[in-house]
Amino acid sequence: MQLRDGGEIRADLVIGTDGRASLLRRKAGLDVERGREAYDVLWFKVPRPPGPAAAGEEVQVHLRPGQLCLAFPTFDDRLQVGWILPKGSYGDLKRRGIEEWLGAVVAQVGPELGSHLRAHREALERPFVLDVVCFRLESWQRPGLLLLGDAAHPMSPVGGQGLNIALRDALVAANHLVPVLEAGADPAALDAAAPAVQAERLPEVREVQRLQGQPPRIFFRKGLWVRVLFEVAALLVRSAALRRRARTPRITDTFLNGVCEVKLRV
Ligand SMILES: Cc1cc2nc3c(=O)[nH]c(=O)nc-3n(C[C@H](O)[C@H](O)[C@H](O)COP(=O)(O)OP(=O)(O)OC[C@H]3O[C@@H](n4cnc5c(N)ncnc54)[C@H](O)[C@@H]3O)c2cc1C
Repeated sequence: MQLRDGGEIRADLVIGTDGRASLLRRKAGLDVERGREAYDVLWFKVPRPPGPAAAGEEVQVHLRPGQLCLAFPTFDDRLQVGWILPKGSYGDLKRRGIEEWLGAVVAQVGPELGSHLRAHREALERPFVLDVVCFRLESWQRPGLLLLGDAAHPMSPVGGQGLNIALRDALVAANHLVPVLEAGADPAALDAAAPAVQAERLPEVREVQRLQGQPPRIFFRKGLWVRVLFEVAALLVRSAALRRRARTPRITDTFLNGVCEVKLRV
């Protein structure tokens, strides 16, 4: 590997975990053509409001057709707000100023959270837009290189799966590579072990990305039945009693437990 200062590091196997914009992916010629997701997420934090959210238990979901806003308490005693909006639309809102886009968020989240956001407008921490990308490589390796995590498969933010999946990749990689390393790290054996990592991980990545694609497809669809669906979903979200009675959907179960068992065996 070539370093910026002209130096060079040589290795029999480089594990590329350099994230969604992976340089190694690009340099290895593994990049693929990909379609664009239909939405971006605007993230920002404000101080935590008093009430249930302060207990760290409540995720607020504000749903309207074509509009979704999530708010949840964070470890650093703030409220993280995620506003999902059609791809590319934030640039225009930003040009019109904070009053304009915050007004749109406030209109979306209703009076209670809305007045909290307005009251803490000055304390609103650096908003930034996450350019949502979601794709996967069908090949994660070249001789001497294995890509893992976002470098091989940037995940959609739906269900917050990116960290889980990247960690599970690392466990499976350890299971396959550590025995080869302990047996003397033969370069050919390392290259032979790398495809086994991909083969074990790809089905879960494929299934989780498929599930992640479902909510946005419904969310950005227009029509009467979608409107009805949103009304029901919004009611469910608001009603603690209905929420308790509802069965955990399969998508949530998969997000919580994964598609298959992954254990560190070395
Ligand atoms: C704004 C945002 C919010 C997210 N929220 C969640 C969430 O709530 N839950 C969740 O599960 N996932 C979330 N994700 C996704 C999650 O962060 C990733 O899926 C996960 O971190 C992937 O892990 P990784 O190790 O593959 O890559 P990363 O965590 O991205 O790590 C890549 C590392 O490589 C380094 N790097 C990149 N290029 C180079 C280079 N050329 N040289 C040296 N180092 C380099 C980077 O600095 C970084 O440290 C979020 C992502 C973003 C962008």
